[in-house]
Amino acid sequence: MARVNPEFAGAVKQSEAFNASACMNCGVCSAVCHMGIELLPRKLFRYVLLGIEDKVLANVETIYSCLLCKMCEVNCPASVHIAENVRFLRNYINKKVYQL
Ligand code: SF4
Ligand code: SF4
Repeated sequence: MARVNPEFAGAVKQSEAFNASACMNCGVCSAVCHMGIELLPRKLFRYVLLGIEDKVLANVETIYSCLLCKMCEVNCPASVHIAENVRFLRNYINKKVYQL
């Protein structure tokens, strides 16, 4: 069962780096991603906005498989800063999981 982590939700809310609230779930990002990443950004970013840390930590491999190429970002009709959001998640995971 997915659980909201208030600490994670607070960190996302306070961050100027993470912004996906404009996403309208159109699917363009998934369609153009050459890595075939279906999860990012449509689903995972939604979990992040809701503060569901479990889902984020369960998808570390996906988050690190992104090339940060911005192919999705330049085609996003809502101008979501997808690569910057992925960087935010990597920084969070680096601190939380790997204590870097
Ligand atoms: S292309 Fe942009 S608006 Fe469409 S699902 Fe992806 S992030 Fe959301
Ligand atoms: S930045 Fe590139 S690799 Fe990462 S999700 Fe977007 S299109 Fe895929």
